[in-house]
Amino acid sequence: MIAESKRPVVCNGNARWIGKPMAACGVQLPVRLALIGWPPAVEPLPPVSLWAESPAEAWRLFDERVACLALQPWDLPADVAFVLTARVDGLPQGLDPRCWLPLRGRADWVQCVHACGRRVWRRDLSTAGFCCPICGGGLRPWVRFARDSGWIQAANAGAENRLWEVVERIRGRGVELWCRDLADDRTLLRLAERLRKDLDAKPSGV
Ligand SMILES: [Zn+2]
Repeated sequence: MIAESKRPVVCNGNARWIGKPMAACGVQLPVRLALIGWPPAVEPLPPVSLWAESPAEAWRLFDERVACLALQPWDLPADVAFVLTARVDGLPQGLDPRCWLPLRGRADWVQCVHACGRRVWRRDLSTAGFCCPICGGGLRPWVRFARDSGWIQAANAGAENRLWEVVERIRGRGVELWCRDLADDRTLLRLAERLRKDLDAKPSGV
């Protein structure tokens, strides 16, 4: 079956392909972008305020939930062009890191609780200790929690730029947005809608 339209389609489905039908043999397949939310089987992360109140307890709960998250399969198709995700448990297996945007940060990176210097570091407590190398204050995961104004978003700028480069390249072609676990995630739903509109626009220079 040949795709009927060049319009990207998005739907808040669960673990299934959304959008245009697969192209017949010999016809170019649509480009696939995946948006993956937080698996409902995993409890939400502890509140960001816990890092000020009780850092040891905050780290304990955080590590416990990230371990549960890591047990949830990604089930990504092999030919996905870019993955945007609310998961924080690291790069999906087999995916090019240049094609991955962890929208809420990464559990294996840390930042100062005061967002010092807008810097993030690899989480390596054996060498870095538990203190911010700039101010000596506490470290917290470089992960955006609920109502978290201190998360250093700028550390994701490179990946965001790559996403919009991909969007520019595939605009006007057949595109599928493959979505999973977006139900309660307004950030991802807004992003899916923005991508749909953006990909629906004419390629620049046309
Ligand atoms: Zn600091």
